Amino acid sequence: MYCERCNSEHSGEYGSGRFCSRACANTRVFTTETIIKKKKSAKNSNAVKLANELQKKLKILKQYQLILLINLKFHLIINSLQQTH
Ligand SMILES: [Zn+2]
Repeated sequence: MYCERCNSEHSGEYGSGRFCSRACANTRVFTTETIIKKKKSAKNSNAVKLANELQKKLKILKQYQLILLINLKFHLIINSLQQTH
């Protein structure tokens, strides 16, 4: 039998016989596929969702602030116009 991890020949007595030793059975190989999966799950994680929502709210808040600022300036202009009359 050959170990699926290190390809060394072994008796197959360890576990299901797929690996030569515990060390080989426990080794996790990070292939590009698993990295992509991890990235996808990270995107869907609650922390990222929360951060995205916060950013959206911040954008809305900034826009609202801008509207308030424009309103304020508008009022100031109207006030100054009324004073000249
Ligand atoms: Zn091995």
